[in-house]
Amino acid sequence: MAFENLANKLQNVFKKLRGKGKLTEKDIKDAMREVRLALLEADVNFKVVKDFIDRVSEKCIGAEVLESLTPAQHVIKIVRDELTELMGSTQSKLNLSAGSPFILMMVGLQGSGKTTTAAKIGGYLKKQGKHPLLVACDIYRPAAIKQLQVVGDKLGIPVFSMGQNISPVDIAKASIGAAKKGGNDVIIIDTAGRLHIDEEMMQELKDIKSEVRPHEILLVVDAMTGQDAVNIAKNFNEQLGIDGIVMTKLDGDTRGGAALSVKAVTGKPIKFAGIGEKLEDIEPFYPDRMASRILGMGDVLTLIEKAEQAFDEKKAMELQEKISKHQFTLQDFLDQMQEVKKMGPLNQLLEMIPGLNQKQLKGFNVDEKEITKIEAIIKSMTPEERANPSIINSSRKKRIAMGSGTSIQDVNKLLREFEQTRKMMKQFQDIDKDLKKGKKKF
Ligand code: GDP
Repeated sequence: MAFENLANKLQNVFKKLRGKGKLTEKDIKDAMREVRLALLEADVNFKVVKDFIDRVSEKCIGAEVLESLTPAQHVIKIVRDELTELMGSTQSKLNLSAGSPFILMMVGLQGSGKTTTAAKIGGYLKKQGKHPLLVACDIYRPAAIKQLQVVGDKLGIPVFSMGQNISPVDIAKASIGAAKKGGNDVIIIDTAGRLHIDEEMMQELKDIKSEVRPHEILLVVDAMTGQDAVNIAKNFNEQLGIDGIVMTKLDGDTRGGAALSVKAVTGKPIKFAGIGEKLEDIEPFYPDRMASRILGMGDVLTLIEKAEQAFDEKKAMELQEKISKHQFTLQDFLDQMQEVKKMGPLNQLLEMIPGLNQKQLKGFNVDEKEITKIEAIIKSMTPEERANPSIINSSRKKRIAMGSGTSIQDVNKLLREFEQTRKMMKQFQDIDKDLKKGKKKF
């Protein structure tokens, strides 16, 4: 889970502060010492930590905090603002209007997740109505072209390749014509990586850059390699010049040192975060939201955005209509469940809810199996049964249990819970109506 260790440590420091009421200068100094240790243990760059602690301490020891009635909250806010600043303060978007077709060049070492990320960004832009073209310029690894074609196919994105016997510079150049012909407004070039930075690779990237003149160069680095990722970014930026960074494998990075240091060390922002192996596991990187997540304040905005992406407004209106007419059926229940699943794994969603810290989440196991079971039961019902569960007698229950590989008790439990949900919905509706009529006041 991203930043888990660091988040737990920082949250403990602030818990102690909150318990204190008024704070003295010593309390703040002690807390800062602990924050410093937590950041160093998270593998944040040494100099970045020093500057960070200096800035936070200076602000915290200001009179405003010490005299405040809620000093701990003040300290937390200062830390959050500085963490946000450290990661680049505001979201850095791709500058898509820089050209048409917009040319994006992806660079990075082998294994960093470059090919996967090229495809993920393609999928992300396609969802926004763009028509990307993926370009296979890694001619050295035979599997690389195939890999790009496979992920391109999965996403329904065309892949431009000229095999392994043409130079990457020529392939990249030719892709511009192909994009214009095919109506593609974004070109994403997947270049070759190596295990380490070497001169030959860098020269090839420089050649592509000078011949193709990409609008942006994004460097892909693996968050789990910590300070190595930061050094790689520094090196690429100095030798080639980059516009931004994609931090991959943040899902497995419990420390977060690379994500917290890379902007301060290179001056280049993180534009995207890779948060899993699936092709949709990519997010724009928002420094403020990330800082809030680290401090256990949740990330409500990302949650809302995920909901907006997953839910169709028209369907939501229809549903509201059904609820108000008490026509909510088991089929609707099933549809809803599937909509929620589209938002992503439930555990990932829970991480974003404020007030739930990582430790509490550990004890809270979302049983995805239980949800699969409910789905299986409803899918084993006939349309009439889904629309009108009261016709489900014991022989029907037996058939449904058999069909879904569950027991009659499971079917009964689901029907009971569904009935309760329906009753609750009716009560909410009634309260809402009364409120509108001005009958009830809260
Ligand atoms: P490349 O050599 O840089 O092109 O790397 P690949 O795209 O082949 O990725 C290397 C491995 O990292 C693959 O197994 C990917 O599935 C995995 N990977 C890439 N991005 C992420 C991510 O954000 N999270 C996780 N968990 N795995 C990732």
